[in-house]
Amino acid sequence: MALLEEPIKETLHLRNYIDGDWVDSEGELKDVINPATGKVIAKVPISTRDEFDEAVKVAKEAFPDWRRTPPLARARCLFRLKELMEENFEELSRIQTMEHGKTIDESRGETRRGIEMVEVATGIPSLMMGYNLEDIASGIDEYLIRQPLGVFGIIGPFNFPFMVPLWFAPFAVATGNCIVVKPSSEDPISQIKIVELADEAGIPPGVWNLVNGGRTVVSGMTEHPDIKGVCFVGSTPVGKIVYQKCGETNKRVIAQCGAKNFALVMPDADLESTIAACMTSFYGNTGQRCLANANLVIVGEGLSEQEHEAFYEKVVDMFVAAASRISIGYGLDETVQMGPIRDKSKKETVLGYIEKGIEEGAKLRLDGRNVKLFSDLPDTCFIGPTVFEEVTLDMTIAQEEIFGPVANMMKAKSLDEAIEMIHSNPFGNAASIFTGSGKWAREFQYSVECGNIGINIGIAAPMAFFPFSGMKDSFFGTLHGQGQEAVRFFTESKVVIQRWF
Ligand code: NAD
Repeated sequence: MALLEEPIKETLHLRNYIDGDWVDSEGELKDVINPATGKVIAKVPISTRDEFDEAVKVAKEAFPDWRRTPPLARARCLFRLKELMEENFEELSRIQTMEHGKTIDESRGETRRGIEMVEVATGIPSLMMGYNLEDIASGIDEYLIRQPLGVFGIIGPFNFPFMVPLWFAPFAVATGNCIVVKPSSEDPISQIKIVELADEAGIPPGVWNLVNGGRTVVSGMTEHPDIKGVCFVGSTPVGKIVYQKCGETNKRVIAQCGAKNFALVMPDADLESTIAACMTSFYGNTGQRCLANANLVIVGEGLSEQEHEAFYEKVVDMFVAAASRISIGYGLDETVQMGPIRDKSKKETVLGYIEKGIEEGAKLRLDGRNVKLFSDLPDTCFIGPTVFEEVTLDMTIAQEEIFGPVANMMKAKSLDEAIEMIHSNPFGNAASIFTGSGKWAREFQYSVECGNIGINIGIAAPMAFFPFSGMKDSFFGTLHGQGQEAVRFFTESKVVIQRWF
């Protein structure tokens, strides 16, 4: 096992970043553990309400000057931030592998996506423009301007610790708002690093703050009268609470939540590229991705029962063969294709689902428990690719978000039946179809109630200039993160009517 050099060499003592200073928290400290090695790599504070309130106070004080800073000057800070992110690209990526467990290639992909958010936000002078119309009545013109609102809270999940807060932060800051970011306490280190870079890029004190912590900080965000809006990404139960509380306190809210995504394989699909895409979409990020596919539906549209059975078996055989070849280990080994689950308790949850699948009658075709590692790492958080066959819709493993490397093989006689299967699920985050038929692809994208659709693509991840969508139990709110929708979320429109004398 040849490992890349670890950027974190000793246990880091993490602090909060408030008003341009790194400050110690009085809250208790929690271990941040590298899930591949089991080593404690940082101690993160669970900050108090007073500490959060202080961050909101300084952000509110910084707002009047920052909103008056010309958009081009704000964009220049982001250009500088982008350059610094490029200069620190490899370190940022390796930190993510150490704090989360994902492979170095996955981390590099995440860093690239994060940089793209900043790149798009640098277009703010154009993105934030309003519009006007002359002569709405004789000698009277009307125009619309977009203005920032004040202080926003941003709450990140553990599975994309670097990228997800950047779905919002650069757009919030570019539009002239100030922010308080709360990264996941499970892997907050790459967010600490990005704030260091934002500081170096010249973003003034008080504009981009970071407060580590958990529920207390989240409650603060939904309750504090000076927080104008909250961006949350995480599980559906917590997202629902955040959404409801923001409703009670009249705050804007984006709550992007859990998922259970289906992929359909039609009889005319190119199976080699389909299976290759499935390996990434089912097992990438060790299945801990809101866009991960979880249920593979092999569709028999136009086939006899026997032909459908033969097609199903062929797809499953190819899937299992490819999944069996995935190498598992520490993501800083560049030959490793899948890292560990984020922590022991999440691994226990996934193991519980595997037990449940067996109990409910699914056939365990590939068992990822007691996986063989290609090195002598402590086997606390690893689970190998797992495949269940004969999975039916009523089974728990087909309905609930497992968030691990577990794939369910299912059948549907027709495209309509497969779409009904998707609609029977409470989530609506993403869905994919693999087919050579424009007609089937069109019907799929037209009918399916999911926010992100892949056509011959397994991971339907929108680029930074498109919204990261979601429907049903996967999303609560009106506008989404990223691009133009984020700009609208972070600004209020004001309409002015003027009579010229
Ligand atoms: P989580 O809900 O456990 O935590 C999300 C954030 O909320 C974290 O910052 C956490 O500290 C905080 N939190 C946790 N429990 C809380 C509570 N009871 N009260 C207040 N705050 C609380 O989610 P997670 O496990 O970090 O992330 C995984 C989930 O996120 C999955 O469900 C995944 O599908 C979802 N996700 C969704 C998207 C999307 O765009 N739809 C993207 C990434 C992840």
